Amino acid sequence: MSSTEGTSGTPQSVIPAHLLRGQKALVTGANSGIGRATAVALGRAGADVVVNYVAGKDEAEKVVEEITGFGVRAAAYEADVSDEQQVVAMTDRMVREFGTIDILVANAGLQRDAPFTEMTLAQWQKVLDVNLTGQFLCAREATKEFLRRGVVPEVSRAAGKIICMSSVHQIIPWAGHVNYASSKGGVQMMMETLAQELAPKKIRVNAIAPGAIKTPINRSAWETPQAREDLLRLIPYDRIGDPEDIGHAAVGLASDLMDYVVGTTLYVDGGMTLFPGFATGG
Ligand code: NAD
Repeated sequence: MSSTEGTSGTPQSVIPAHLLRGQKALVTGANSGIGRATAVALGRAGADVVVNYVAGKDEAEKVVEEITGFGVRAAAYEADVSDEQQVVAMTDRMVREFGTIDILVANAGLQRDAPFTEMTLAQWQKVLDVNLTGQFLCAREATKEFLRRGVVPEVSRAAGKIICMSSVHQIIPWAGHVNYASSKGGVQMMMETLAQELAPKKIRVNAIAPGAIKTPINRSAWETPQAREDLLRLIPYDRIGDPEDIGHAAVGLASDLMDYVVGTTLYVDGGMTLFPGFATGG
């Protein structure tokens, strides 16, 4: 793998190093998978980055090291995004140590899968707490800072940018994962409502809906040749996504190149939401 390639060959060198210069980004769940690739991509684009993690300090420190290699600042902050006090403390610390927050990527998420009648309330609640309430808390605290600071035209045309990490399962029902699909459906409506409420304040709220991306969260879906073949049948573009595919989308959405993009979900899914079964049937 060359230094200009992502984990599985996706080119990184296409990211302009100046695009986000001077901006401060907070990425939650950034010590793994999509969050990690997004934090690295934002750093490569010139942003200073806070790498949030809840467990896995060593991985978080490695991400920080990689980002500081681009000549920008980075730091690892521990916080559970579903805990109000910890989120408030994290954003306060970022404002103290980095001066402000310009970009929030509310990425942290998890799955606790079970057939419906076997799903415990704890499994349901945990997924809602992290995937939906966690995004609510981080977005609320970041927004307070965006409103306090206002627009700084030399930095960005917007007072702040929020990117909610959703999923194709905000619109594709997913048997055996009712907690996860419900949380992402909630993320979609939260994102759109916040986008409507905050746009007049020059805050842009959008979402990315990844399809199947090779990360630890869905290892079983791509690890064996059979699982891979089954999965590829759902992806017209005929490749499983790399975390860098999402990092690139986040850089674009966060930048002023997309200043007029408000309240949109960007599907980054190789066509998974195009009803691939209808390519030959229907
Ligand atoms: P991952 O398991 O590699 O990363 C999830 C990260 O969230 C980890 O760093 C984990 O520690 C962190 N996290 C979990 N609970 C947390 C908490 N309470 N506080 C702070 N951090 C917490 O999985 P991933 O695939 O990189 O997932 C990232 C996001 O992308 C999730 O929101 C997931 O739903 C979404 N997503 C992933 C895929 C995919 O195919 N991988 C597809 C659609 C959506």
